[in-house]
Amino acid sequence: MPFDKLFEEQLDALKAEGNYRYFADLTRECGQHPRAKNHHEGEMRDVTVWCSNDYLGMGQHPDVVEAMARTARECGTGAGGTRNISGTNHHHLELEAELADLHGKESALLFTSGYVSNWAALSTLGARLPNAVILSDSLNHASMIEGIRHSKAQKVIWKHNDVEDLDRKLAALPANATKIVAFESVYSMDGDIAPIKEICDVADKHGAMTYLDEVHAVGMYGARGGGVAEQEGLMDRITLIEGTLGKAFGVFGGYITGSAALCDFIRSFASGFIFTTALPPSVAAAATTSIRHLKTSGVERAEQRAQVARLRARLDAEGIPHIDNPSHIIPVMIKDPVKCRMLSDYLMDMFGIYVQPINYPTVPKGTERLRFTPGPRHSDEDIEHLVQALKTLWKQCAIARQTA
Ligand SMILES: *Cc1c(COP(=O)(O)O)cnc(C)c1O
Repeated sequence: MPFDKLFEEQLDALKAEGNYRYFADLTRECGQHPRAKNHHEGEMRDVTVWCSNDYLGMGQHPDVVEAMARTARECGTGAGGTRNISGTNHHHLELEAELADLHGKESALLFTSGYVSNWAALSTLGARLPNAVILSDSLNHASMIEGIRHSKAQKVIWKHNDVEDLDRKLAALPANATKIVAFESVYSMDGDIAPIKEICDVADKHGAMTYLDEVHAVGMYGARGGGVAEQEGLMDRITLIEGTLGKAFGVFGGYITGSAALCDFIRSFASGFIFTTALPPSVAAAATTSIRHLKTSGVERAEQRAQVARLRARLDAEGIPHIDNPSHIIPVMIKDPVKCRMLSDYLMDMFGIYVQPINYPTVPKGTERLRFTPGPRHSDEDIEHLVQALKTLWKQCAIARQTA
């Protein structure tokens, strides 16, 4: 093909750097999580998945699966339209009410994904509010960055989780600016958690709105799974809380919650909400079931936390370096894209352990890592198997250990 050379040149550059992405071809088997089948060179092999964002295994919970299957039988597959043109199904409204309640807000609004919810909400706020300035944490997710870029609003990047830097940058803005402080609670790659209260204090001092991405925290933190802001009793101090239905809730879709006026504003002006087909009713019903379950059941969260603590302790005992953080995310630093990919391949080929290498541009160059997310269904034996595998590879590949 005449144009392929153009594409291939850039792909070759990516391959030369070690940053080309190979997807693992998996078949998930309901009820077996975190076990899955991996299709490889014409064969099927059993693997244990160590990098799933279905953090609690809710994507295979019998009630959630049944809700999706039952609703598909009752309502059919697709929503049949955009929300405005025949696509609003009663299941969407039920889910939005559930989400508003989860975060203690008046209203909620569904999107096709968490990515789209960030992109659409931030681009609409930034584009339509008078003299908008968006103050963005330097490690914000790509979906927030793209939304801010698309809004064409003034953007100010503040140092990651640095409240004093945020304070200085807010103070330097003109009085007539509409200021929006955009940040995350749990940062997905380092697993660190934002000082939400201090950020709210500074935002209040300067009359700024707060926009919080709780994607990696919903379902996981707080007595009802409302996220870190719930756990810290701070939900009412956040102007807009954004989340996903695709990670701990185990389904698909994204959302924002906030005041009725805020949600109505985004509903009425956001292109990424208006001009796209609504979520399938079955997806909405499954998400509602998952959220309701995690509002009252703490068992999954407790078991998950126990396995996170166990893996950390075992890695420490073996001197395998990982980032210490207060969350459920365990990043093991490799700091080299080629080595990172190689270790991931060895873990899969030799030990049946699947952990995707995390390379640029997901993380900065030189901070390549393996990112482990233990869940309630990883057994103690699974953890031991993983630790022994890492130990073997650390020796074979001569990777530095922690010298504590
Ligand atoms: C995954 C992710 C999103 C996007 O959510 P999806 O529902 O997967 O599109 C948004 N923000 C952060 C921080 C994420 O990690």
